Amino acid sequence: MSCERSSLRPPTIRTIIRDSRATRSCPKIRTRPGREPVTDSNGDGKLSYFEAHPEWYGLRKGKRSAKIDGAGDNYCTSNPDATRELAKNLVQSLIDGPWRHVDIVNFWMLDNGKWCECPQCAAQGIYTDRLFDVCYTVQKAIQQAQREKRLHREVLLASLAYHETLPPPARRLPADFDYGHFSVTFFPIERCYVHALADPKCTEINRFLREHYEGWTTRPERNYRGSLFIGEYYNVSSFKCLPVLFPSIMAADIPWYYRTGTRHLNYMHTPTHLWGTWTLNQYLLARLLWDSATDSQAVLQEYFRRYYPTTAERTAQFYRYLEQATANFKTLKHYAGEDIYCLRRRLAVDSHEIFPLKHLRYDAYRPETDDGPDVVEIVEAMRLARQDLDAALLECHDETEAARLLEDERRFAYGEAMVSFYYHLVRTALLHRRQEAALARREFLRVEEWGGKTPPSHGPRRALEEPSRGRCQRDRRLRRHPGHNGLQLLQEEIRGLARLGQPKPTILTQTACFAPYPLLQQVLEGFLAGGTNNNGVRWISVASGRSTLPRFGCVDDMRCRRPRW
Ligand SMILES: [Zn+2]
Ligand SMILES: [Zn+2]
Repeated sequence: MSCERSSLRPPTIRTIIRDSRATRSCPKIRTRPGREPVTDSNGDGKLSYFEAHPEWYGLRKGKRSAKIDGAGDNYCTSNPDATRELAKNLVQSLIDGPWRHVDIVNFWMLDNGKWCECPQCAAQGIYTDRLFDVCYTVQKAIQQAQREKRLHREVLLASLAYHETLPPPARRLPADFDYGHFSVTFFPIERCYVHALADPKCTEINRFLREHYEGWTTRPERNYRGSLFIGEYYNVSSFKCLPVLFPSIMAADIPWYYRTGTRHLNYMHTPTHLWGTWTLNQYLLARLLWDSATDSQAVLQEYFRRYYPTTAERTAQFYRYLEQATANFKTLKHYAGEDIYCLRRRLAVDSHEIFPLKHLRYDAYRPETDDGPDVVEIVEAMRLARQDLDAALLECHDETEAARLLEDERRFAYGEAMVSFYYHLVRTALLHRRQEAALARREFLRVEEWGGKTPPSHGPRRALEEPSRGRCQRDRRLRRHPGHNGLQLLQEEIRGLARLGQPKPTILTQTACFAPYPLLQQVLEGFLAGGTNNNGVRWISVASGRSTLPRFGCVDDMRCRRPRW
């Protein structure tokens, strides 16, 4: 939707300030009894919210913080005036402002934001309780506007269980909490994809998530009784569209989600074309969301028989190896667990143990619980996958099928390159920590080769080349370090990893109409900029109608699409 400035915009900082300025002579500093000093600190003759009401903002290390964007500081949720102002701005925007067509509002605190440390906020309870207090106030403001015939439609609030709000509410919700217009999305971003979320063998990563999830959904004494979404991470940012596969995980997770009361699912993020190996994920997900009792094995057999008619067995074997190879990518490439294990950060600091988890070691390791593909096993599974993919390309006698295999190969090659890159990066770090400088330098030459700095010996370089801007930036950094001396360069490379993948896709969710990140703080500040989230999707274009509320069920378009090659 457009967001041009209009006379119907809700009160902004500027209009509120203009009104208050009209009645006084704008002294530089004023004090009011019992309040913190009011300061026009930047001397522009106007008072911003922060200048007028520093006590509305989060207290961090003894100071009120105006950092309310990005991973900043959440506002002071126990301050009733701040929450009232937030609710007022939100309601006004829903009435005649930028959100006048919005039916569903994602109502979240800052992504990775810090919470106010004032005693009143602490007394509110756990972060989830603090969030629900705010949601309740906003619900009441919406209801009041509806009663007063200022707001003429239903509006749903969708909040979240994510990071610090993963635990369910510890306090009872008010008796009149409006569940009919509210939902929570449970985002298990710390999860492992080697194991299903309910698998008891995943004790060191998924167990705490499962316990929180059950506190929202099935525990008899739970305080939350409303609708639940799952927000999956089948293509979390750090995956950069790697050729990850989830047939086994989806087949276990989705029926379990359904049985335990979840009725909605979305995931971040899905590209719009050139799915390659991703096509299988999309197809199985669609079938399972349509009917969670679907026989996944039968779906997979049908898929390979129909999508790869002349190489079905060989290609299915390629997919099995690829699923093994990529099952642990969440832990390898992103992060996992309550303590946020993150390989790339550990590689960058010599004093950090590289492989503390049972889930991921360098050599093959088979513990009773928490077993996942280890580094050498991942490398081997990728090699076997490549063997079967190459064989399938030779065996294929169908033009359309060959195009599908080539699209698969394109995505696979990117994964192959990334695994090789990480393999040599890990080996460099291991050798470096053993003071084997010569061997570490030699190993790092392989890192550079896979990272695209040195001329390629074969194809995969192309896969890593896709984000051309990122590669150039990395090359510039490498040139600044002509000595190529070990750790410093390694750290540069590690910081550059984020730029190695494909560009971020632009479509966020498979089944959902939600656009994320309409943050409370932006509401508080009066929707100043009509902002975009970090994927370039406008956060104000939330939804156009109740009927777009995501359901278990989405469009099955696999059979009518053709590769563009
Ligand atoms: Zn506070
Ligand atoms: Zn696990």
